[in-house]
This record gives sequence, structure tokens and C-alpha cells, in this order.
Amino acid sequence: MTSATGTVFNIQRYSIDDGPGIRTTVFFKGCPLSCLWCSNPESQSFAPELLHRNSLCKLCYRCVAACPVGAITVGANGIEIDRDVCTVCGDCVDACPHDAMRITGKEMTADEVFDVIKRDIDFYEDSGGGVTLSGGEVLLQPEFALELLKRFKEAGLHTCVDTAGQGDTEGLKRLFPYVDLFYFDLKHTDPKIHQAQAGRTNELILRNFKEVAASGVPFVVRVPVVPGFNDNSDAISDIADLVATTSPGATVHLLPYHRYGQQKYEQLGLDYRMPAAETPSPKFMEAARRIVEGRGLTCEVAV
Ligand code: SF4
Ligand code: SF4
Repeated sequence: MTSATGTVFNIQRYSIDDGPGIRTTVFFKGCPLSCLWCSNPESQSFAPELLHRNSLCKLCYRCVAACPVGAITVGANGIEIDRDVCTVCGDCVDACPHDAMRITGKEMTADEVFDVIKRDIDFYEDSGGGVTLSGGEVLLQPEFALELLKRFKEAGLHTCVDTAGQGDTEGLKRLFPYVDLFYFDLKHTDPKIHQAQAGRTNELILRNFKEVAASGVPFVVRVPVVPGFNDNSDAISDIADLVATTSPGATVHLLPYHRYGQQKYEQLGLDYRMPAAETPSPKFMEAARRIVEGRGLTCEVAV
């Protein structure tokens, strides 16, 4: 049987934040959204990308000589990469003696991914863990996701799919028999506000959320609480009302905005688009939790 292929930017072993127990998380590369607060900017493009980690760079300039297309030059503050010229060939990665260059994203077969997953089966069994597919957007590579999930279930593993819901509904529904838990992101109920800060309106997401809620597959709603976007009681109330109406008693996780991904923007040569944003206060997060619980939902605030 031919193994399906997909583009992956990371396989994180021993993960404890992406579902119950100890898990391996497979991060799919490529996302149709472009949320201003995205903490994994390397997940947005489908194509492999070059990361330059300035903190590791020792200014030896071997990469400058190694680049076959002249994309790396020496500037006032170290090396500069012309990303319009770079072909992501990887020669500078091989030439760098300090691990300061890295390519993120590669095509993998389901066989190759499963070979990594198999290494930790004992940990999954002992901890009640399993495997999580995350992104990027899993629903944009539905055949790859489907084949991986089938293999995980054949191996008796617990499966979780973490999705922002922006993908083909029929592809989503084909995953249902092989998913033990969905993490489903809901960001805002207003389509215009959603489009302004996440890059797309939310109609497809809300349709797909209703499909997941009706499927019988357990799910957790995850809400990133983002300053200037939904860190107000009206926005949280609207999300809570939507969830309570669709699935009374469901579980909601509130995830306060953080800037952990900021360094990755620099490594990719991108501007961080929320330079002045602050993490929502514990007081607001507590008020948000009470709003959600007030709708009869179970609520956890992530730390
Ligand atoms: S990945 Fe290749 S083309 Fe891009 S900067 Fe490095 S050596 Fe040059
Ligand atoms: S080869 Fe590596 S350490 Fe040397 S200048 Fe290039 S990125 Fe920096």
C-alpha cells in the first residue's frame, strides 16, 4: 500500500499540553488563517522555510560562502537573508557549525511519522496518553490525517485532533470514526472582527464546530483570549452562549494570549504584529471563567 504524504513542521515527543497523558504531537504545516497572535508563525506557510537563530550565530560567515544563490550578506548587525532570493536549499544549514540555521517543514510519509510515534508507545500506555494531530490546520491535509489516524487506531492509541475548523467539512467528517477527542478553537462569533484579526471570516469554522458537536466525538472548545480582539465580556459571553446552545455542558479552555512565539518571527525575518499586546490579567481571566461557567459549561483557564 502506498503511504500518504503530508507536510509536517515538527513532531513533539513527550508533550503534556495537547491532550490527556504523555503524547506525541504531529504539527501539520500550512494554515489558511493568519491570526495576528499566532505563536507558531512557521505553521502558516505550506512551504519549507529557513530559520536563522541569532542567539546561536557566532558571525563566522561560513553560510555566506556556502549559499549558491547569494541570498546571505553581511550587514551592520550580522548576516542578512534575502528571502525573495533564498531557495531553501539547506546548504547554509549544512555549513553552519553552530546550529544557527534550520529548515522548518518537510514532506513525510505516514510510514515515517508512524515510525516516530511507535518509539513512545510505552509512555502512552502508562500515562493514558496518545497522539495529537495539530498545526497549522490539520483539515487542510485530510488524506494524510485520515491515514495517520487509521494507523494510530489500529495500534490501539488514543487520538486527538487540534483544529481551528477552517477546512473542508466532508474531509472533517471522514475523520470522526478515528478521533477520540477534538480540541476545537473558537476565536470570535463576529465574522467581521474574526476576518480582521484572523484573516478569514468564521462561517465555515462555525459550521464545522456544529458538525463536531453533533458527531458524538468528545471535544473541548479552546478560546485564545487576545487583547484588543476578544478580551471583553461581550465577546466571551457570545462564545459561551454559542457553545452552551450547541452543546450544553461542554468543556471550554480559555488560553490567555502570550508572546512565546515572538522569537520565531525574528528567526523567519517577519515582523511581530502585536508588539504592544499584554497578557490578559488573572482578574480578567477569572471573570471570563465565571462568564463561561455561568452558561452551565465546564471551564479551565490555562496557565
Ligand atoms: S537555504 Fe540555501 S538559498 Fe537559502 S540562504 Fe541558505 S544556502 Fe542560501
Ligand atoms: S554559519 Fe552559522 S554561525 Fe556562522 S554566520 Fe552563518 S548562521 Fe551564523
